[in-house]
Amino acid sequence: DVIIEVQDLHATVEDTEILKGVNLQVKAGEIHAVMGLNGSGKSTFAKVLAGHPDYEVTSGQMLFRGQDLTAMEPHERAATGVFLAFQYPLEIPGVSNRDFLRVAYNAHRRARGEEEIDVFDFDDLIEECLDIVKMDISFLDRSVNEGFSGGEKKRNEILQMALLQPTLAILDETDSGLDIDALKTVAHGVNQLAGPDNAMVVITHYQRMLNYIVPAYVHVMADGRIVKTGTKELAQELESRGYEWILQEADVEV
Ligand code: ADP
Ligand code: MG
Ligand code: MG
Repeated sequence: DVIIEVQDLHATVEDTEILKGVNLQVKAGEIHAVMGLNGSGKSTFAKVLAGHPDYEVTSGQMLFRGQDLTAMEPHERAATGVFLAFQYPLEIPGVSNRDFLRVAYNAHRRARGEEEIDVFDFDDLIEECLDIVKMDISFLDRSVNEGFSGGEKKRNEILQMALLQPTLAILDETDSGLDIDALKTVAHGVNQLAGPDNAMVVITHYQRMLNYIVPAYVHVMADGRIVKTGTKELAQELESRGYEWILQEADVEV
């Protein structure tokens, strides 16, 4: 059961080609890690999957359960089950987290032809999700991401993911690095939510995240392509040997 199939994907931003032929297949029940040096195109890949308007797909395909994502608007992709936890989450002053999450959740329900959730049922549901990220209920009454620490923003993303239960979750780590608590929260959330019917793509610059999440496959991105695929041992090898040997092997100049 293939969740996402990316075939020879090329994409540009402001007429500069960034993705130069990405191939990736992720099946249900799998967690994949995408690693790579800064500037290799990891975040671009995540944004192209989610449909960020700044990026143009020039050739290739992205099939989500056989359905072509390229023709779909970002909100349609989200509604059909593709979730991107943004590298730099938005701040929305004046909108409480509770309202934001309820609106997002109801949009997904409507897209599936379901009725909006009862307000009290939503409160029960969101409390279960709060437990997963170990956040206090007072968190819901703060404005979306406003004044949140880096760790709190990450927890909030995982909270959104827990609520929306995406079929494909893409998590893009900040290169600046999370503190260890935030890292463990993200990992715990991913491990809780990973199941036989969904798939996760965890983008990370550092190996340390993979101390807490065990991916089925580890991919290395360089110069806008996936140039090597291995298992979790590959991540450990990158940690000890760096990226240079892979770039040479793949004949990539950086
Ligand atoms: P990574 O996430 O692996 O660090 P990115 O996808 O952020 O890499 O960036 C890949 C390349 O694309 C970089 O050279 C970056 O400068 C370029 N790039 C990404 N987004 C834009 C943009 N909006 N405008 C111009 N260049 C961009
Ligand atoms: Mg970067
Ligand atoms: Mg990035």
